[in-house]
Amino acid sequence: MVKFFLRVWEELDLEEIKNHLLVIGELTGECFSCRKVGIKIEEKICPQCKKEFKYIGFRRKINSSLIAKFRKIYPEAKFIDFEDFKKALSKKEAKEILNF
Ligand SMILES: [Zn+2]
Repeated sequence: MVKFFLRVWEELDLEEIKNHLLVIGELTGECFSCRKVGIKIEEKICPQCKKEFKYIGFRRKINSSLIAKFRKIYPEAKFIDFEDFKKALSKKEAKEILNF
């Protein structure tokens, strides 16, 4: 068996992601829920709001070797496309304004 990292489309709960997302930058991460910055990459739980990181997104350009590296650090987490997530979030917010 030859395994590669490929992106897949999946229906996910935006609220759930908002509450459990670690956004990884160049050297540290940011908790999407409470916006705490400078989180050490190995942290599994936000040091400020204590939310568990179940989803990982990236601010920088990613490739499969980067994913492989972070897969080892976060074997349980789901890796999402941060741009996808932000787009979905703004669509959701636009919808909420229209329905208000
Ligand atoms: Zn937090």
